[in-house]
Amino acid sequence: MLTISPTTSKITTTHHHHHLHHPHTYRHLTSHRPPPPPHPHPSKPLRLRRPFQISAIDAAQPFDYESKLSKQISKSKTLKIAIVGFGNFGQFLAKTLVRQGHTVLAHSRSDYSAAASDLGVAWYSNADDLCEEHPEVILLCTSILSTDKVLRSLPLQRLKRSTLFVDVLSVKEFAKDLFIQILPLEFDILCTHPMFGPESGKNSWKDLPFVYDKVRIGNDESRVARCEKFLDAFAREGCVMKEMTCAEHDMHAAESQFITHTVGRILEKLNLDSTPINTKGYERLLDLVENTSSDSFELYYGLFMYNKNAMEQLERLDLAFEALKKELFGHLHDVLRKQLFGTRGRSLQRPPALSKLPPNGNGLALPTGSTESESKSDSATS
Ligand code: NAP
Repeated sequence: MLTISPTTSKITTTHHHHHLHHPHTYRHLTSHRPPPPPHPHPSKPLRLRRPFQISAIDAAQPFDYESKLSKQISKSKTLKIAIVGFGNFGQFLAKTLVRQGHTVLAHSRSDYSAAASDLGVAWYSNADDLCEEHPEVILLCTSILSTDKVLRSLPLQRLKRSTLFVDVLSVKEFAKDLFIQILPLEFDILCTHPMFGPESGKNSWKDLPFVYDKVRIGNDESRVARCEKFLDAFAREGCVMKEMTCAEHDMHAAESQFITHTVGRILEKLNLDSTPINTKGYERLLDLVENTSSDSFELYYGLFMYNKNAMEQLERLDLAFEALKKELFGHLHDVLRKQLFGTRGRSLQRPPALSKLPPNGNGLALPTGSTESESKSDSATS
């Protein structure tokens, strides 16, 4: 039953709730309230305008109920995530995960205790200690080449048996095979690849692609929710979430990412400098060099070594460069021949012009015989 005290306007209750009889709980609910604001019209009677003091939780909720509830809800959106491999990319991810309110722990071969404390990350130099903290997620940010060794060295027996393993390796079939081979069946597996890095994602992750493959997520509601919570860390930053198999990823990545890194590294070898008359296109090339050179060579080598589609792309790039040179030299040859022989030169055999390479997956052979560009250049020279 509720009663309202006429002098204080306080609501009290005759329900006997055990919490409310505890002096501390009671004080907690009624104390620390700011005094009522001064009455705006002092001439008017104050009595009816005096605010209610709510002192019974089953009558109404305390003034900070909603903020407490929202904290609880947002807390439940957070995870305890252990980053293993706290180098360039591990630290980059940690920054955002900490900002989002996740509890982030880290371990690496090198000592990153100072960097961890700057980022608000709990540092564990010992992998046993890290695992005994029972993180919900182990996020592997190790180099492609070291992942096998690092994964095998983790004391898996110290983890909770339902732990979710996530990797961010830039090659996915390799990571998936490793996880399946090494991790006991009780562990969940999520293979991911954020298609951006500390350079391209330094200001925002908005509209940047995030690839994932739910390789093995248990049916249990809490396991499904945990995986979704992890993915949400990227979705809520505005990433474009792309679910695809690891094999599909590797095919696309070799055609796009590996080519990008390779071209960036070739250009880096040219020591390109900014000029007073940079075109937009040239600015983009300079950006590309900066973007790709900030990644370790080990990462680039991993893209090549552990993606079975990379070799074909490297050969195609080589062929395309040769083809382009031949096309240029072919035209030059034409001009010289004209100068030397005049129209008589037409009867001589011209080197064939080379068209574009066939699309990916159609092998490496160049088309032979007369091509569209050849017949066009024929008519232009006649
Ligand atoms: P990385 O050179 O590929 O990897 C560096 C990390 O690997 C460091 O944490 C390093 O630990 C660890 N590591 C290297 N060799 C090791 C060994 N022998 N034993 C134990 N740990 C070893 O550079 P990264 O840019 O930080 O990339 C990390 C992962 O993220 C890679 O798998 C990469 O494919 C992926 N990724 C990177 C980007 C990017 O833009 N950088 C984007 C998406 C995904 P210590 O520093 O403690 O030695």
